[in-house]
Amino acid sequence: MKRFIFLGPPGAGKGTQADFLSKKLSIEHISTGELLRQEIAAKTTSGEKARLFVESGDLVPDEIVIEILKDHISKIRGAGYILDGFPRNTAQAQSLEEHEIGVDKVILFDIDKETVIKRLSGRLYCPACKKFYHEEYRPPKEDTLCDNCHRALIRRKDDDPESIENRIRVYLEQTHPLIKYYEEQGKLEHIDANKEVDVINQELLERIGR
Ligand code: ADP
Ligand code: ZN
Repeated sequence: MKRFIFLGPPGAGKGTQADFLSKKLSIEHISTGELLRQEIAAKTTSGEKARLFVESGDLVPDEIVIEILKDHISKIRGAGYILDGFPRNTAQAQSLEEHEIGVDKVILFDIDKETVIKRLSGRLYCPACKKFYHEEYRPPKEDTLCDNCHRALIRRKDDDPESIENRIRVYLEQTHPLIKYYEEQGKLEHIDANKEVDVINQELLERIGR
């Protein structure tokens, strides 16, 4: 049982936990947000189509994301994966079934809206390492440089107040219905994502029976 979906609002810490669990279980961490940012940075056709949606915090059209995901999954050889940020609506969930991309468990990251806003508004990002920092909760060792590669950290365009509001709205309208969808399939496990990173690490391992 090593095929997971991480579900939850932006800023819930899905990426951080996916990083942890993928290393622990030697499985693939697949973040559609990260795949999209790569396409955008490389200025591919899909990237150019996706850019404005990502920057404003809207969902990128299903065809584009599904194509990128399918392409990426077909190259994976290992035993399992974590889908981080996919599916984000019912049509995307159905596309997994259509393409026989299996899911054993769905981990829901429960978190308060105020915590989400605090986490996202102070967030800093290293585009080279794809690692997140936070001005207050996880500051880099030197001012605004990445601990790892010493490049200047940036603020993601979609971490501005307007896009944050929009991302939360989009989550509630389009992604939230997936909770019921996976509950009905008996695959859903809740995690309290308001807690600290290492507390959530442990809770996560418990939920998946490790
Ligand atoms: P966060 O979870 O913090 O919002 P992500 O890196 O997961 O950040 O996603 C960033 C953006 O990428 C989203 O706001 C959206 O525009 C786009 N995106 C990511 N995954 C999907 C998806 N499955 N469907 C549509 N758009 C997506
Ligand atoms: Zn770096």
